[in-house]
Amino acid sequence: MAYSIAIERTSAPKTKPEVSRIGFGTIFTDHMFMLDYETGKGWHSPRVVPYQPITLDPAAKVFHYGQTVFEGLKAFKTADGAISLFRPDMNFRRLNRSNDRLSIPPLDEELALAGLKTLIGVDADWIPAEEGTSLYIRPFIIATQPTLGVAPSRNYLFMIILSPVGAYYAEGINPVKIHVESDYVRAVPGGVGNAKTAGNYAAGLKAQEEAPQGYSQVLWLDGVHRKYIEEVGSMNMFFKINGKVVTPALNGSILEGITRDSMIRLLTHWGVPVEQRQISIDEIAEAHRDGTLEEAFGTGTAAVISPVGELHWQGEKLVIGGGKTGELSARLYDTLTGIQRGTEPDPFGWMVRL
Ligand SMILES: *Cc1c(COP(=O)(O)O)cnc(C)c1O
Repeated sequence: MAYSIAIERTSAPKTKPEVSRIGFGTIFTDHMFMLDYETGKGWHSPRVVPYQPITLDPAAKVFHYGQTVFEGLKAFKTADGAISLFRPDMNFRRLNRSNDRLSIPPLDEELALAGLKTLIGVDADWIPAEEGTSLYIRPFIIATQPTLGVAPSRNYLFMIILSPVGAYYAEGINPVKIHVESDYVRAVPGGVGNAKTAGNYAAGLKAQEEAPQGYSQVLWLDGVHRKYIEEVGSMNMFFKINGKVVTPALNGSILEGITRDSMIRLLTHWGVPVEQRQISIDEIAEAHRDGTLEEAFGTGTAAVISPVGELHWQGEKLVIGGGKTGELSARLYDTLTGIQRGTEPDPFGWMVRL
């Protein structure tokens, strides 16, 4: 279906930054996508407009009750100069699952993708081409009805903003040290842990702040037993134990990562056994003790893979793989980033060309 998306181009294009200095999420392109929702009228008025601040009534529900969801994905300039997106259909499907949990009306996924493609077409010059770089895409929805009653909003705004990002591992893949959190919890069954919604992240900041010096992120345990591995900040967790890969099963309280799904598919394709199940922190500590904990890594859109070189659990330091990047982690990283850059075959048809 063809959608009619209005385009208003900026009259004052910004100077593009030097790619070696852009970091993550600090610089935004010249345009953004907007789509409005009103009860009775539905989603309407898709448009690309110059990037600019938005005006909201101070009573807008998003400010008071957090009715909001977001997504994160990437576009790449491939080795042959084309522009492609990594599995964007998965992101918009997940956005609708988050919408459902937050009582936000569903979005036409095709329209969202058409809007994204139009926006990227307008800002195509902003996509860096250097190896390891990409265009980070942040779609999000906010409740805008200006009333303080606790009820689903009657008005919403869907937006997409774009941010060029530098190479995450400009100095080579660096394993991270992670603190296993034993006091705070992130989510509970029946809650919103499997929705990409703002409150999950605001509620996690304190644990991150209080983590001991040197541990930049925390690994969450389940909120009921305080025993089973859930996930890290914005990454799903994988462990390689005795030749087998294990990752927590989707239990309703962890986020269903698209990178997680991609890793499971790649591993299965290679004939590496993958188990999705409950994994207790005790099992990890035991595997570490008996020398069968071979690798640990987190997966997410931003870093693709973040090897874990050390886990800090109840005062104990579990060093994994000598604190170095494991062989399988490196192979997964090289393969997935190769597929994204178009230097490796794409057997699953993940890349969507503009
Ligand atoms: C976004 C996110 C992930 C990773 O999902 P990807 O689709 O792989 O980027 C994992 N956990 C949380 C809490 C997240 O917000």
